Amino acid sequence: MRPQDILMPVPAGLCCKPGGFHIDPVRPVERAVITHGHSDHARPGHGAVLATQETLDMMRLRYGENFAHSTQAISYGEEIRLGDVKIKFHPAGHVLGSAQVAVSCKDTCIVASGDYKDASDPTCAPFEVVPCDVFISEATFGLPVFRHGNAADEVKKLLASVALFPERAHLVGAYSLGKAQRVIALLRAQGYDAPIYLHGAMEKITHYYESRGIALGELRPVKGVKKADLAGTITLAPPSATSDVWTRRFPDPVTAFASGWMRVRARARQRGIELPLVISDHADWDGLTATIAATGAGEVWVTHGQEDALVHWCKSRGLAARPLDLVGYGDEEEHEVAAADEAEA
Ligand SMILES: [Zn+2]
Ligand SMILES: [Zn+2]
Repeated sequence: MRPQDILMPVPAGLCCKPGGFHIDPVRPVERAVITHGHSDHARPGHGAVLATQETLDMMRLRYGENFAHSTQAISYGEEIRLGDVKIKFHPAGHVLGSAQVAVSCKDTCIVASGDYKDASDPTCAPFEVVPCDVFISEATFGLPVFRHGNAADEVKKLLASVALFPERAHLVGAYSLGKAQRVIALLRAQGYDAPIYLHGAMEKITHYYESRGIALGELRPVKGVKKADLAGTITLAPPSATSDVWTRRFPDPVTAFASGWMRVRARARQRGIELPLVISDHADWDGLTATIAATGAGEVWVTHGQEDALVHWCKSRGLAARPLDLVGYGDEEEHEVAAADEAEA
């Protein structure tokens, strides 16, 4: 069977005709298989949704009880038959509950990895290499300039700044699903045991992580705390909040931003970020290329991000490769704005 007869990009997303479903559809469909909870992948309004329990819970938290007509939870390693195909979920290491979806039909296996990272993250199951014939890779950081380095070192920079400026507050911009919890866990791993403050938009999802057994230490809502009492503290907030009037409640804040994009100095400058922290939920160039090689796939389909360089790299290694041209996915940044506006913080 040709891989394109199993999975094909259509306007609604990645369509599996023989299985009767779409993966991470951007438009409402009858049956959706969803890789993870970020809002460009997990949208409301589908008929049936198949995803990990965590992803279903996150969708419920974000969209309410009726986000889909029906839901079914699937565990990592569990295999389910849908129509003429079998699907199996594997950890993607991206955020809590994130999964790669292996779709097998006859003797062909395609892995749709969603968003993934191969770097260690104490807040989610580690990425698993899944041998396959066709690997579908994201390319958010698909350029050789993107090398994320060690996230622990970035957090050490933050702690050094807190020690240096005890009279100032530290405001760390971080996406509310995944990144914020990872930064908190990394701070705890460095022995930082003071309370960490949260913007209102961070609370629900962070407490959900705790309910799934991710230890994050003492967390406090920042709302209602006196300005003077925030000197020497760390607050996590959605990226959009760190550049608005909301920051006036903090004493002389140092603004930080935890993102893979912080490798690009101009981006940090544009946003007025004093302390860029290169911490990403996505694989960097080395991670993408090492993962593609490790899957043993002879064919690679590249989507959302910097497709061209990665396609070129694959071809130079003798692999068949092409961009998928799916639309509607991107980094989570634009979706955070809405979340921050909703929140009473
Ligand atoms: Zn994502
Ligand atoms: Zn994505």
